[in-house]
Amino acid sequence: MRLHISTWFAPSGLPCPICGRNAQQTDSGAVAIPIQHGEPRRILSALCFSCRRSIPWIIHPVCRICGRAERCEDCIRRQHRSYSISRCAVRYDNQMRDWLALYKYRGNEGVESVLAAMLAFAYERLCLSTSASFDAITSVPLAPERLLDRGYNQAERLAQRLAEWYGLNYHPMLLRLRHTEKQSLKTRRSRVTDMRGNFAAVSSDLFSGKILLVDDVYTTGSTLDECARILKKASQTNDSTEIYGLLWARS
Ligand SMILES: [Zn+2]
Ligand SMILES: [Zn+2]
Repeated sequence: MRLHISTWFAPSGLPCPICGRNAQQTDSGAVAIPIQHGEPRRILSALCFSCRRSIPWIIHPVCRICGRAERCEDCIRRQHRSYSISRCAVRYDNQMRDWLALYKYRGNEGVESVLAAMLAFAYERLCLSTSASFDAITSVPLAPERLLDRGYNQAERLAQRLAEWYGLNYHPMLLRLRHTEKQSLKTRRSRVTDMRGNFAAVSSDLFSGKILLVDDVYTTGSTLDECARILKKASQTNDSTEIYGLLWARS
C-alpha cells in the first residue's frame, strides 16, 4: 500500500465533531491527513483546523517493535514477546487523553468515528511495515462489569469500524475474566504478573494466520502481550499464527 498524503479543508458550516466549533471559522490553513482510505479521510476532514493540527501522529516510529516515537525501554527489557509487532496512531498526550475521555465517558458517536479514523492510520502503517494481509481482526475485551457500566467496549467498536472500511473479518476471540486495578499505580513487575489469569480464549477454531489485535491505549504492552499469548496458546494446532497489535495511542 502506498502512503498518500494530501491536504484537506473542513467542509463548510458543520461543527467540529471534537470541539463543536464551526470548522470553517477556525480554518486558517490545510493540515495533512496521512491516510489513504477515503472514509477515514472524510471523517477527519470534518475536524476544525486547530483539532486537526493538534493530532500527534506517530509518523516516524523509533521503536520497531511497538511503534513508539521515542526510544523504548519496555521493548528493550522485555525478554519474551507473544505478539510480532504493534503500531500506534498517535502519542498519548494531554489532548488525546481529553479526546478519549470525551468518547469513553460520554459515548459520543462523532468522537468514536474520529478515533476509529485515526486508528486507520496505524493500520495502514502496519500494512506498510509488514507487507502482510490479515486473516482476522479482534479486540481486547472489557470485564463484564465494566461492559455493563459503560454499555460498550471502545476497542471493539474501533476494530469493527476498521473491519468495515478495509474488508477485514472481525471476530470476538477473547474474554476478560477479571479487571485489575489501575496499572499506573503499580511497579512494572507486578503489572506483568497481574495480567496472568485476566483473559481466556472464546474458541480456538477461529485462530489461525495473521490476527490483528486492537486496543485503545498502549501503556506498557502487558495487556497486549498477555492477550497475544492467550490467542497463540489457543491456536496450538497452527504454529504459524501471528498476532499484530494495533493501538490508537501510545503513552
Ligand atoms: Zn475542533
Ligand atoms: Zn517499544
